[in-house]
Amino acid sequence: MISKGLGKTNKTILILFHYLNYLLPKYFMLKTSVDDFYMRQAYNLAERAFEEDEIPVGAVVVLGSQIIGKGYNQTVRLNDPTAHAEMLAITAACEHLASRYLQECTLYVTLEPCVMCAGASYWAMLGRVVFGASDQKNGFERFGKNLFHPKTQFTTGCLANECADLMTHFFAKKRM
Ligand SMILES: [Zn+2]
Repeated sequence: MISKGLGKTNKTILILFHYLNYLLPKYFMLKTSVDDFYMRQAYNLAERAFEEDEIPVGAVVVLGSQIIGKGYNQTVRLNDPTAHAEMLAITAACEHLASRYLQECTLYVTLEPCVMCAGASYWAMLGRVVFGASDQKNGFERFGKNLFHPKTQFTTGCLANECADLMTHFFAKKRM
């Protein structure tokens, strides 16, 4: 009786294990490709900045599966040092939601945000921030992650090489 009972439990655990084994990698792969997908949209905007001779940074704000805010760096065109990709994307997203908070949203940005954009993300209480290339010179990480809201989650290094290459390419072109 006992062994029969245990056998049944073991079988259930085994089925559960196989199920998780099958499902979990799919979940993680799905999550990764979703991040890649939205980072690609941010990257396309960064390319647009590049074409307009602006430092090539692009950003999108995503709610569920919808892009509700977009931006690319336009500091030169607008003569505005605050016109960073993230600032424009956050403003557009807040306008879209008619709210100053973005707790349920994810910000995808091709470059590590600066302290100003980290501050804007703090005030918007962004749910999650995903960024591509690191920015050793102007990135927030030099000052620690506590510039962001304590509830903000992070993913770094999404399409990092491509995002970094675009920056390198831009500054190489400038030096020519
Ligand atoms: Zn910034």
